[in-house]
Amino acid sequence: MELPVLQPEDRVLSTLESDGSRRWIYPKLSTGRYWWWRRMVAYALIAVYALLPFVTIGGKPAILLDIGAREFTFFGFTFLPTDTVLLAIFVVGLFLTVFFVTAIAGRVWCGWACPQTVYMEFLFRPIERLFTGTTGKGSKPRHSVAPWRWIAMYCVFLVICIHLANMFLAYFVGVDKVHAWIWSSSPAEHPGAFAVVAVVTGLMLFDFCYWREQLCIIGCPYGRFQSVMLDRSSCIIGYDERRGEPRGKGRDREAKGLGHCVDCNLCFDVCPTGIDIRDGLQLECIGCAQCIDVCDEVMEKTGQPKGLIRYSSQAALEGQPTKVVRPRTVIYLGAIALLVGAFTVVLAGKGTFDVTILRGLGRPYLSDEQGVVENTLRVRIVNRSGVPRRYVIDVVEPEGAWISNGAEVDLVQPGDTFEQPVHVRAPGDVFRVGKALLQLRITDDNDQTVDEQFFLLGPL
Ligand code: SF4
Ligand code: SF4
Repeated sequence: MELPVLQPEDRVLSTLESDGSRRWIYPKLSTGRYWWWRRMVAYALIAVYALLPFVTIGGKPAILLDIGAREFTFFGFTFLPTDTVLLAIFVVGLFLTVFFVTAIAGRVWCGWACPQTVYMEFLFRPIERLFTGTTGKGSKPRHSVAPWRWIAMYCVFLVICIHLANMFLAYFVGVDKVHAWIWSSSPAEHPGAFAVVAVVTGLMLFDFCYWREQLCIIGCPYGRFQSVMLDRSSCIIGYDERRGEPRGKGRDREAKGLGHCVDCNLCFDVCPTGIDIRDGLQLECIGCAQCIDVCDEVMEKTGQPKGLIRYSSQAALEGQPTKVVRPRTVIYLGAIALLVGAFTVVLAGKGTFDVTILRGLGRPYLSDEQGVVENTLRVRIVNRSGVPRRYVIDVVEPEGAWISNGAEVDLVQPGDTFEQPVHVRAPGDVFRVGKALLQLRITDDNDQTVDEQFFLLGPL
């Protein structure tokens, strides 16, 4: 027996038909003032994303995420493997800044600066409109698009994605390497990098050709977190229900008791995530302001004041005051200030090189018949300066102790780590309960010094 399939009363998801198939979204384009500003920002950001790998600051790349060497460079500062605390503070600070900006400005990142939105709406979608004959303000592709147009469009997409994937790789290995790999070697010589480019190209094609708004709706964790990061005073794009309802078509609106919404549905037609902003704040809204632009146009044409859909807050749309200073913004700001302070203090405490003393392998100590005790240690030096340096290691205390195997460290290149085995010999009478405090002083050829302490082991 065939059971009847229950039909939902409403659409469950904006991108799902009631039979469960995907509802493809071909948003109309509204070229209003926000679109103009977003386009300017988007092209500037595309230029920044493309040029950043080429920019150097103080001889270092502006951004280089060298995972192999565990070194991350941001705008001239390099986090080395010894900078775990700094990196942790930086990452936590970044997250808190995102929370703070979202609490104040809502999804401004999604609508204005996220690479997904920037490339989709200002690169891939315009190209698609161009090839499928829906240039201007059109939405769906023309009924009969010649096959060569589709093929040509996907070829253009492929070239762009390969280029973007190579740029992506440049953020991890540097632009010089990518350039050399492309022009003077074959993929077989660097299969790992080639695989990264191939996979990233494939993922981008999948995203920009097929997945599209689904990434924002179901794939992006930031989008999912919106409900906890926004509150009633956060900036959102909202429909003024008090002004717009009851909606309806027709003239003599006042006489008919109609609100300002003429029910033209254009705000729905332009939405790249397929939602109707008049249903209230929704998780799918990426804050692109297309509905503001189109509605303002409608208001202008119908002789009504603009701003029926506008940047506002849930509180303001309900006629209540918007509070900028509120517990969550104060807490976020306080935590960010604390982290900035902590970062500055930790950073100021760092010299041009880091020193770590480790115990050598094997027996903890040796002692000879004169009672002299020898500890084998490993002195690890990280050259944080931008030039090659030599180092000298001296014993400050305990008195009478010395280094028996040469205290000079070879040339250490910038950013490199060098480990020097050091045999420290000390008279037996400096040991108390089997231990003696050792203080080493490491001096570089620029007369910078770092003192580091360690416990020597000896007889009880
Ligand atoms: S664009 Fe404005 S007037 Fe038209 S349906 Fe949307 S809210 Fe109403
Ligand atoms: S509801 Fe408006 S602001 Fe939100 S995604 Fe749709 S068009 Fe953009």
